[in-house]
Amino acid sequence: MAEKVFIIGSGPAAWTAAIYAARASLEPLVYEGAITEDNQMNGTLPLGQLALTTEVENYPGFPAGNLEAYLDDSLDKDIRQFMAPHQKEGVSGPELMELMRQQAKNFGTRIITDDIVKVDFKRHPFQLFASSGDEIEAHAVIVATGARANYLGLPSEDSFKNRGVSACAVCDGALPRFRDKPLVVVGGGDSAVEEADYLSKFASTVYMVHRRDALRASKIMADRAVENKKIELVWNHTIDEVLGSDTDGVTGVRLQSTVDDSKKEIEASGMFLAIGHTPNTAFLGDKLELTPKKYVRWTVPFRTNTSVEGVFAAGDVADDYYRQAVTAAGTGCMAALDAERWLAGQGL
Ligand code: NAP
Repeated sequence: MAEKVFIIGSGPAAWTAAIYAARASLEPLVYEGAITEDNQMNGTLPLGQLALTTEVENYPGFPAGNLEAYLDDSLDKDIRQFMAPHQKEGVSGPELMELMRQQAKNFGTRIITDDIVKVDFKRHPFQLFASSGDEIEAHAVIVATGARANYLGLPSEDSFKNRGVSACAVCDGALPRFRDKPLVVVGGGDSAVEEADYLSKFASTVYMVHRRDALRASKIMADRAVENKKIELVWNHTIDEVLGSDTDGVTGVRLQSTVDDSKKEIEASGMFLAIGHTPNTAFLGDKLELTPKKYVRWTVPFRTNTSVEGVFAAGDVADDYYRQAVTAAGTGCMAALDAERWLAGQGL
């Protein structure tokens, strides 16, 4: 029997799509990704990018407050017992994702902890292939596999993730550890300027470290960086090492010049990467139309339709612009409604 709605992914887009599809009696099946070393290395474990962050202060509905009892009460005990105790106010990324997953499950969503590695959208019902060897047939598919932030790939960078190394200023910039401290942003594009500008509200100084002597950012954004007195541009340098300790997290960076052999150190309590994102679309092969940057292309304005009828996309896998939890959840909802209406139109 073919599934009515098949969802690939496990971030806010996927769980929101599942909640809506389940409540519409479409009995969604979610492939949430596999727990493998490869996925860990690539930042593509189940529950997505939010599971890699700490406090989430901008997702509506979670003001400061003690969430402990609510978490204990809402989540399955077998999940809760392996989670870190709730530490601070508000909600953390991993907590938010477990709550969304649980909410989808409560409405009857079935969840398989495995990766989809190949798809066939030429035939209908569509065919999907899991890494376990399982093959699934589905009438409608929602692709919500997200994107992963690019990192430099330094071991020191990896060991300080969540302790000063971040790829999302909007998510983490307002944390107390960064207040009135010098910070480093790596990159020279629009995102780097945007991150630096945002961080300058909290930081004492933001060092924008760029490997060339000219920004890639658009003129209006570049001007913003130059005019911001708290932003100091550090040209022609790359990050050689992230410096820090177990107790303090990041305390600085060592820079390598790109024009000579010189190195220098900068004191900083955080390093923010803004060197681009990679959408998780490799498993799609050439079966869906992608943008030049390999994001799934939405083909109808204000809808989640893709180049294949009956296949919808939601969240960061199709959005290289907003990239927020709440916008991903919003397009997840849209994809479920689009799928529901499409199925009804097909008499399925
Ligand atoms: P981007 O334009 O591709 O810029 C990436 C930056 O990271 C480049 O400056 C690049 O250096 C640098 N970089 C890449 N790999 C690196 C590495 N391994 N080490 C050091 N530096 C590295 O990406 P983006 O800034 O995320 O922007 C993505 C798209 O969204 C763009 O089209 C942008 O215009 C758009 N966007 C617009 C706005 C806005 O208008 N407000 C805001 C954000 C994003 P090189 O320059 O040397 O290649």
